[in-house]
Amino acid sequence: MRLFFAYWPSVSKAREIVPWVEKAHALFGGRVMRTDTLHMTLAFLGETDPDTTGRLVAACRGWSLPTGSMVLNQPGRFKNAKVVWLGPEQRSAEELEWLHRAHQRLWGLLQPLGWQPREPQFRPHVSLLRNAGPGALDTLQGPAVSWSPDRCVLVGSRPSERGSHYTVLAELALFQE
Ligand code: ATP
Ligand code: MG
Repeated sequence: MRLFFAYWPSVSKAREIVPWVEKAHALFGGRVMRTDTLHMTLAFLGETDPDTTGRLVAACRGWSLPTGSMVLNQPGRFKNAKVVWLGPEQRSAEELEWLHRAHQRLWGLLQPLGWQPREPQFRPHVSLLRNAGPGALDTLQGPAVSWSPDRCVLVGSRPSERGSHYTVLAELALFQE
């Protein structure tokens, strides 16, 4: 099972993101992320054995992370992975500081347990499509989505025919900065 930590939107917040999913799919094709799987990954840990997973589930129950507000309205792509995503806009350096602090704090808790980040930098995003075709991103527009995450979870991900199947394994406490 692969593991990751993510901010998880409420059902109503996820529904606000759906117009972006539909527009992206109309433009670029590929496989849409279902409404109940939309999320923002904070840390991807990769394939993990059951014993290690169990230890992490127990350890992270005592952890807490900051939350704050963001406005999702910037589309982007990870070209190699053919992912089209929606990310937060950043009007000032301070605006998204809380999100980067959350990422750092989480890795600061994970590293003493032996986990190492795989990505050189944190690129906050909500994936909309997998296996997307080509096309200019400037045609992808939609309603800005204001989001203050109220849920951060450790998720187990198992591959299946219709895309990875996610299971929530633990939930972290959040505090407003
Ligand atoms: P699939 O790989 O079957 O298309 P998925 O990408 O949703 O599905 P996972 O690969 O388990 O499922 O990834 C879980 C989450 O972690 C996703 O949000 C994914 O974008 C993110 N993720 C995957 N690999 C990395 C990575 N190397 N670095 C950062 N985030 C990653
Ligand atoms: Mg993947």
